[in-house]
Amino acid sequence: MTRFDLLIVGAGPAGSFAAELLAKGGAKVALFDGRPEGEPKACGGGVTAKALKAWPQLLNAVGRTISELDLYSPSSKRLHLSLEEPFAIYSRIAFDGYLRDRARGAGAHIVSEKISARKAKRADSVWRVGSDAGSEWTGSFLIGADGANSGIAKMLAGPLPPSDMEVAFGYRAPLPANDVAPTVVAFLPGWVGYAWAFPRPDHISFGIATTQDAFKHEPLDDLLWQFMIGYYQQCEGVKVKFWQSDSGTPERERIELHLRATAERYAARIPGLAAKTWDSRTTCGDDWALLGDAAGFADPVTGEGIYYALRSAELFAESYLSGAPLSYEKRWRKDFGAELRRAAQMRRRFYGNFWGAPFTERMIEFARGHRGVKRVLGDLVAGEQGYVDLKKKLVKSALRPV
Ligand SMILES: Cc1cc2nc3c(=O)[nH]c(=O)nc-3n(C[C@H](O)[C@H](O)[C@H](O)COP(=O)(O)OP(=O)(O)OC[C@H]3O[C@@H](n4cnc5c(N)ncnc54)[C@H](O)[C@@H]3O)c2cc1C
Repeated sequence: MTRFDLLIVGAGPAGSFAAELLAKGGAKVALFDGRPEGEPKACGGGVTAKALKAWPQLLNAVGRTISELDLYSPSSKRLHLSLEEPFAIYSRIAFDGYLRDRARGAGAHIVSEKISARKAKRADSVWRVGSDAGSEWTGSFLIGADGANSGIAKMLAGPLPPSDMEVAFGYRAPLPANDVAPTVVAFLPGWVGYAWAFPRPDHISFGIATTQDAFKHEPLDDLLWQFMIGYYQQCEGVKVKFWQSDSGTPERERIELHLRATAERYAARIPGLAAKTWDSRTTCGDDWALLGDAAGFADPVTGEGIYYALRSAELFAESYLSGAPLSYEKRWRKDFGAELRRAAQMRRRFYGNFWGAPFTERMIEFARGHRGVKRVLGDLVAGEQGYVDLKKKLVKSALRPV
């Protein structure tokens, strides 16, 4: 049996990118993924300008580049952003396939089998993992890159409480007939979170991201349907507010009927760690490490996780290849840990009230009348504006003359 240097469970962005970098650095890597062929990971597929700048090779994956974004407040006020730095939207089949091919090209051994975390054992400094199909592999180092429901993380670092999880669900639906398909993020009325419409080359990804402990399927699904129907009406040139349920009109009924027959539903969890969990969570040991969602690395305000999956892979590969894998913990904390911890503290306020209205309502109202505030929001979308100095930046730009 080949003994690998590293066994990486999960070939999403974190696992595949780590496998590519480690194999390029001379390590013998096995990369496992049990997802059935053609089944996409549930995801909006939005990749920020910051990520595209850090890893320009991502632009070689087939996706859509987005330079215009419509933000909507909970009362449906619109803010149109022309982004100085575009972001990209990918189908996760295309994106994950591209990164996995790069890992294979760098020399990683790819195995399309699901690993059973229960069967993973360590004895005499050797990890032994097995698949449900009965195959076995051995290696010196085990990496959990198996996503938000990571069995490897549960085994090595313990389970996360439900309050440290967000839920996202939605539908993949056809592009509008006239090929007008704006990219939209709309903050929810009366709920934590937002809805999105992300057009991809061959379909639109609609979804809602919210916290798991406040999740109620029926009212949120109703909201998403109002949003989707309103979106298609807008594409047909009809001015509507997103959050209305006048489902009686023949126009709305026609769109709903079409969507009910064509849209495919999906749902999944995203980590959204509380500040105290950021302080106590351990993500590596002598011969193991956790990357991406498995480590809890997603933005607790927006649910954005692809950047952190890739960056954690890069930081781990640097640590491992420099002969100091344990330095990974310190590196990610210094690099993006403080930012995500701050986001965790901000979440309640971001979706809370401010001057008698939701903060998101005030933020959009303010940005509509103020170029400086609008620019800060554009930077936030690009991934270039962090939370650590967000409040200071917003206040400073609001005080500048319009
Ligand atoms: C609905 C939704 C929308 C989102 N939208 C965005 C967005 O627009 N932009 C953004 O940046 N982030 C978004 N996210 C978050 C983003 O999807 C994740 O943060 C990101 O995919 C994390 O990458 P990862 O490699 O850590 O994990 P994943 O992408 O989850 O990859 C883990 C891989 O491990 C495999 N796996 C799991 N268990 C096993 C096992 N036992 N054996 C073998 N393989 C296994 C899985 O098949 C999967 O391929 C969204 C999440 C959801 C749920």
